[in-house]
Amino acid sequence: MNPIEELTPQGVWRNFYALTQIPRPSGHTEKVAQYLIDFAKKNGAETYLDEAGNVVMKKGATPGYEDRETTVLQAHMDMVPQKTKKSTHNFETDPLDVYIDGEWVKARNTTLGADDGMGVAAAMAIIEDDTVEHGPLEVLITRDEETGLYGAFGLKAGELSGKYLLNMDSETEGEITIGCAGGQDIVCKMEYQEINVEPDNMLCYDIVIKGLHGGHSGIEINKGYANANKLMARLLFAAVNTQMAWLVSWHGGNMRNAIPRGCETKVLVPKAQEQEFLALVEKSRKIFDEEYEEIEGKPIQLAATPAESIPTKAVPEDVQENLINAILTAHDGVLRYTPSLPELVETSCNLAIINIADGKAEVITLARSSQDSMKQYLSNQYIASFSMAGMSVKLEGGYSGWKPNPSSPLVAMMSNIYERMFGQSPMVAACHAGLECGIIGVNYPDMDMASYGPTLVSPHTPVEACYIPSVEKFYNFTLEILKNIPKKQ
Ligand SMILES: [Zn+2]
Repeated sequence: MNPIEELTPQGVWRNFYALTQIPRPSGHTEKVAQYLIDFAKKNGAETYLDEAGNVVMKKGATPGYEDRETTVLQAHMDMVPQKTKKSTHNFETDPLDVYIDGEWVKARNTTLGADDGMGVAAAMAIIEDDTVEHGPLEVLITRDEETGLYGAFGLKAGELSGKYLLNMDSETEGEITIGCAGGQDIVCKMEYQEINVEPDNMLCYDIVIKGLHGGHSGIEINKGYANANKLMARLLFAAVNTQMAWLVSWHGGNMRNAIPRGCETKVLVPKAQEQEFLALVEKSRKIFDEEYEEIEGKPIQLAATPAESIPTKAVPEDVQENLINAILTAHDGVLRYTPSLPELVETSCNLAIINIADGKAEVITLARSSQDSMKQYLSNQYIASFSMAGMSVKLEGGYSGWKPNPSSPLVAMMSNIYERMFGQSPMVAACHAGLECGIIGVNYPDMDMASYGPTLVSPHTPVEACYIPSVEKFYNFTLEILKNIPKKQ
């Protein structure tokens, strides 16, 4: 038995541990979906996979609670696959190496997947425990939340009948989320004709930025962590404009909603400019370090090392200039805070993924805002600068925000229960990250919803950690909510 399985409450931790042993990166959730279906059948719940690939479980009321309203417990089954540079972990095949570090549970060199394995595990613990007091239950475990909320988008009207929905995908115990921002992928693409390289007077260098803090582009965008793509653009702008370097390829970031932690480019450097080029890299590293030391909490890792061989093709001069200029001018980070709530980010974006190689270039950015017009403004900025650079710009995967309902009976009940249990009021607020509630609400406009969860730090990074004492509070709170769900009207 792994020590994690013995933590309290055991039902939650045992199921959570089981989930960490099943590979479930976004886009590869078949195994975990099957596991959940088998689990529900074994525990006497009605279960099926809906057309969108979500697992639905239905369980009747505990005797004496048949006249209560139906409640939906909701979480997502996929997790963000992020690992450290040295890790050889394969997210599609390997179990996570999880361990206890003081009051925290973590995974060695990878994301922990407590976002949102904790929500799934809590729902499983309730399904398998016949002593929990609850009215009719519906459990909705969605797929691929992290890459585009696909499961929530695919959920059909009529699939669920619950009056209340408890989304267990928030990251701070003691907070109840009642609204969230909408989002939009901005996808810029182009093809170009590579030029032949005359290798005689050229050297080739790999420039690598790695080990940045990164983080969730919704929750942590206000922290100001360094974006590896932006640092690289600043360095290359200086190197290319002084003819010290020519771009061969660029690969930075790998998830729309993760602040890019690393970036690698390959450049050609004229032999005569080598020392100047290396001095520029070192100078940039020092500058970035000074700028970000306090925020990142550790030195910036930026280095140029000689490449193994000289490539025969590179990006043409005009194309590289256009691309670097556009990337440099593109907004990244917070654009505006909510005028009526100065603590809450209203509009932001994450310059997330850049791939330039072999005659193709793509730049993918995730914009978020609780104001549709500001989201449009930000998207238009990208359309303006990247179309000037010769790229086609498409807006994809747009989703609307979740409008807070300040008079929600569910939230009022949850707040009262929380106060009674823990002697203080929960913090009730909207958040900047996207939550599935907004999308589910499109087909279920009358469902009363709230989001909460145990405390996680640095989700979407290899240092993701779950605060052990918060899990018990979160779970006991959930049990108390279920017990107090009102009778059917
Ligand atoms: Zn999540």
